[in-house]
Amino acid sequence: MRELIIDLDAIVANLNRMRQVAPNSKICGVVKANAYGHGMIPVAKRLEAEGVDYLGVADIDEALQLRAAGIQAPILAWLHDFAEDFHEAVAADIDLGISTLGQLERAIAAAKQAGKRASVHLKVDTGLSRNGVTAAQLPALLDRAITAQDAAEISVVGMFSHLSLTSREDDHAQIARFEAALAEAAHRGIHPQLRHLTASDGTLSYPQAHYDMVRIGVALYGLSPYSDHASKDYGLTPAMTATAKVVQVKQVPADEGVSYGYLYRTKAPTSLALVPVGYAEGLPRVASGAAKVWVNGSSYAIESRIAMDQFVIDVGGASVAPGDTVVLFGDPAKGYPSADELAAAADTINYEIVTRMGGRFTRCYLQGGVKLTASEAGAVEAGA
Ligand SMILES: *Cc1c(COP(=O)(O)O)cnc(C)c1O
Repeated sequence: MRELIIDLDAIVANLNRMRQVAPNSKICGVVKANAYGHGMIPVAKRLEAEGVDYLGVADIDEALQLRAAGIQAPILAWLHDFAEDFHEAVAADIDLGISTLGQLERAIAAAKQAGKRASVHLKVDTGLSRNGVTAAQLPALLDRAITAQDAAEISVVGMFSHLSLTSREDDHAQIARFEAALAEAAHRGIHPQLRHLTASDGTLSYPQAHYDMVRIGVALYGLSPYSDHASKDYGLTPAMTATAKVVQVKQVPADEGVSYGYLYRTKAPTSLALVPVGYAEGLPRVASGAAKVWVNGSSYAIESRIAMDQFVIDVGGASVAPGDTVVLFGDPAKGYPSADELAAAADTINYEIVTRMGGRFTRCYLQGGVKLTASEAGAVEAGA
């Protein structure tokens, strides 16, 4: 009764679109956080089949899940527990983002234990102040890396950083600091093949900063990384359609209170349709009174309180029946509300909307006009 329909062909079209945007760079398809709610394994399998150069995740656990599902593409993981043991990751050929000297030491130890080189991407903090080494810490990290590389314990495959997208001026300052870090590495004889800096936003804004690889997340899912631009402005197609079936319709008189706290009272005799999606599914409660949904070609505001499992819409005199499909958001080119609109109604960004979709939704996948269940599309967990 609740379904997230994931259009894998749209994801491929978005991949190809971003290949046009960054024609001379490899693409790292970012599939962290369950592929932003789209289902990590089916998305990763399709990206691999389409020849994506790398897959990017935050946690090693996510990378290991990809390997367990049979994915052979290069994978980079960059956010580690403070005491992470990298042995399993090195054994599974997962590239490690390295943000501290301690991580580098543990990567070296893991390489010795696994009897093979660890592939590392040194992360420099160029001004986001999240992970990565500062400029002051960089020389020591490079010195240790070159020693370990000469000892055949590691390969410095990459160097990378991440932009804040605060202003063009701030981003240019970060690009300059990245250049300085690369020069510092080159000075010590480290010439990584994969220099990478930009995510979707920076890739769209700064062609001069594409380097050897770009890390693309939200744009793969067809969403704009900028809230003042829509998907179509970049030639992207939203890949997720969130749907549910109406479970009950009833006639009520005027002045009936609807849902908790009576944010809404009927103005006239009308029909109320009950939709089995709530904040447990990731529909933000704060969007009560502001979000709109689509039913049978018309748009209806969710005027009453969104509850844990359900919400109610006033469909007036329209003929809406149990079993009719409600679209919470999808591709606006098909007339559906967009994830951007729901994000605006919830005072957040489209990233958060799709990434939080879950709860009791099941996912299905569209591929070549065929609708596949999650397990047919390769997800390991039922309903994943
Ligand atoms: C999540 C993430 C990305 C992808 O960002 P998008 O804006 O979704 O393209 C790229 N790089 C890093 C380090 C990330 O954490």
